[in-house]
Amino acid sequence: MLPLIRLKHILFVIFTLIASLPVLILAGWVQQSALNKEISSVEEKHLLVARNLTGDLERYVLDIESSLELVAINMVNNKNMAGIPEYLDSLYVRHICITDSQARILKHASAKSQHDIKQFSPETLQILAPLIGTAKKTPGVVVYSDLVRTSPDQTTFYLAKTLPNDQYVIGALSTTHIIEAQKKVSFGRRGHAAIVDRTGRAIAHPVPDWVKTMKDMSFLPPVQKMKQGETGVSKFFTPAMQADMVAGYTVVPHAGWGVMVPQPFEELEERANDVQLIALTIALAGIGIAGLISWYSAGILSEPIQAVVNATKLGSDDSKAPLAANVMSTRRFIPHELLILLTSFELMKNRINHLTTTLHSKIDLANEEVKQQNQLLQKQSLELQRSNRKLEELSCTDSLTELFNRRHFDDTLNKELAHAKRHHETFSLMMVDLDHFKKVNDRHGHVAGDKVLCDIANVIKNNVRKSDIVCRIGGEEFAIIMRNCSDDDIRATAETLRKKVANQVIVHYDTPISVTASIGAITYADHAKEKLTADDLYRLSDLAMYHSKKNGRNQITHYADIASSLVPTPHT
Ligand code: GH3
Ligand code: MG
Ligand code: MG
Repeated sequence: MLPLIRLKHILFVIFTLIASLPVLILAGWVQQSALNKEISSVEEKHLLVARNLTGDLERYVLDIESSLELVAINMVNNKNMAGIPEYLDSLYVRHICITDSQARILKHASAKSQHDIKQFSPETLQILAPLIGTAKKTPGVVVYSDLVRTSPDQTTFYLAKTLPNDQYVIGALSTTHIIEAQKKVSFGRRGHAAIVDRTGRAIAHPVPDWVKTMKDMSFLPPVQKMKQGETGVSKFFTPAMQADMVAGYTVVPHAGWGVMVPQPFEELEERANDVQLIALTIALAGIGIAGLISWYSAGILSEPIQAVVNATKLGSDDSKAPLAANVMSTRRFIPHELLILLTSFELMKNRINHLTTTLHSKIDLANEEVKQQNQLLQKQSLELQRSNRKLEELSCTDSLTELFNRRHFDDTLNKELAHAKRHHETFSLMMVDLDHFKKVNDRHGHVAGDKVLCDIANVIKNNVRKSDIVCRIGGEEFAIIMRNCSDDDIRATAETLRKKVANQVIVHYDTPISVTASIGAITYADHAKEKLTADDLYRLSDLAMYHSKKNGRNQITHYADIASSLVPTPHT
């Protein structure tokens, strides 16, 4: 399942990215332009330092050439040479000599720190010969030799200029001033100056060994350019420093010495890195501020929506609970559309709450009503059941005597016969018909007749078992169904009933009335294997009862006692 991301976080990331992009681009541009600016300013600086150093050497060269001129004139004119040795020392000139074209010394002046010189060594003569030749070709111009090692710790330049009468002024110049001038230039961690002669050999260099061996530095691109008399800035790799360098370079006029001021490129980058660090800090601060603004902006947009979401969540827990959460934001600033949304939601919420409350109170009322209706229905249903029961009772009850009626008798007789057959039981049926009842009516009235019927019904009911079913099946005819009742039992009961009826005196309006009854009975015995129907039982018991009538009334007859004397079969 995908992780659930909140709207506020999505908006925050998007806003921060959008806001940070220009900051990052700006920071990158600042860093790059800082590096470019650093490089161009350093290039200018290097060239300027190289030019300053060259200017110093140029003035020195001019001083040397002037001293050469001055001392030569003094010597030619045999003038006083007082102060000249000190003067030469101050210029780091060892000797100034006047020679012939073979470099033989005619006159000389030495610096105070130097010994006098009588003649040049053969090695020096080898150097001076071509120098004098060059000077001869360019009269009036001072010509310079290449760098010469004149002793293990001493390097020298020879200068030559033509004099009248095929004479020459020769100067031996120490490199001390040049070396000191080079040493003065040091900047950064490894920024320095290097001075080479016109052939590219090291005159002055931070690496002492290179100076000692007069290292040929022509392999370096700026040295090659200086040898061609060019001025400029160059980037190159130097094995001495094991680093990429950027160098300004120039050439000292007349002498042809090359001056270069190199610095490792990484130092420039380091300085640019400082700017980069500042740019990075600014970028991070910018991103931080952008993040804060984004967080606030994301909150402005997402919080109202979140409030609505929270409010709807609360509502879903319990349908009856009102939407309680207040969606109105406490923020000072909120977009107009969202304000309308929240206001509308708040109104809608209040309306829903109101409707919910109303609805629930109506539902409660309706429920209460339904409950009452149910109770009423239940009551009515009970009453109906009671009425139905009563109706059922009435439908099988005789209204005058409250005995079972003819309909119930027919039903019960069929059921009892079926039961007896099924369970192989014995039961009896008794018929009771009041004698000359018509006369009772005629003599005492119909109402008295009814009372007699009721009283006799009670006599019968009170003298049989509770389980016996006593029915009024006609005007003055009663039938009694007696379960588990044998021939003898029914005879005895019939006799008892006959006596009870006969002995019963019914008083109606102070008039005593007595009646008798003729009784007929039949017993269904399963073992007899008789296939009797309910109609057969009724008919045969009635037959027995009529037998009692015929024999003089007020007596009992069991069908079994008369069956053999009767002609008709039970199945007619
Ligand atoms: P018997 O000895 O032959 O049975 O003579 P009986 O008069 O009893 O018989 P009958 O069938 O001739 O007359 C029955 C009389 O019973 C007729 C009628 O007036 C009377 N009777 C029938 N039903 C009622 C009733 O509900 N109330 C009253 N008071 N009399 C009734
Ligand atoms: Mg009758
Ligand atoms: Mg009768």
